[in-house]
Amino acid sequence: MKNIIFIAPPAAGKGTQSTLVSEKYQIPHISTGDILREVMKEDSEIGEYVLETVTSGGLVKDEIMYTLIEKRLGEDDCKNGYILDGFPRNVEQAKKYDDILSRLGQELGYVIYLDIDEKLLAKRITGRRVCRDCGAIYNINVESESPQIESTCDVCGGDLYQRNDDNLESFQNRYQIYLEKTGPLIDYYDKKHVLYRIDGNKEIDVIFQEIVAVLEAHR
Ligand SMILES: [Zn+2]
Repeated sequence: MKNIIFIAPPAAGKGTQSTLVSEKYQIPHISTGDILREVMKEDSEIGEYVLETVTSGGLVKDEIMYTLIEKRLGEDDCKNGYILDGFPRNVEQAKKYDDILSRLGQELGYVIYLDIDEKLLAKRITGRRVCRDCGAIYNINVESESPQIESTCDVCGGDLYQRNDDNLESFQNRYQIYLEKTGPLIDYYDKKHVLYRIDGNKEIDVIFQEIVAVLEAHR
């Protein structure tokens, strides 16, 4: 059983690593965003509430989110483990997550902390370019992630652009919020001896191999 949560600052490569781990171990990659998108399609009271809240730009109440997460983690495809993305984000939510797990008879499993230098993150964020046509993501500050031809998508030949919030100022704001909320979360899981610190400054495949080593060593 591999229940996994990732703790990582913005642009640390959490999404990429989640996908790799999900594929290798054939376990679902569950994000709170996906859970909300699914429930919005439902013809139910809770579905209507979420649809109204999200479309009006509001935040879904924590209590509702906990209920939805518990329901999702109780489904059959989670029996051999899962990756939970975007939750918990702070200690209060982590305590609720503990309650959810105990009701489901599940263990906390692994908390993978991608530890990465702020300077490197800033470099990654400001170098990020996205294809207007197919959404492929590049990074002009990382050689192995640069497009072959400047400003042009390798996949489809589309134009690459920089997202509005991929600038230094926006990154620094997001990073401060991350530090404030997540610092205590790291301590919380460290004390429970489920936190595995991975050096996130390395290449994608090296990081992945280190995560696999953790998962294999502590079965
Ligand atoms: Zn493209």
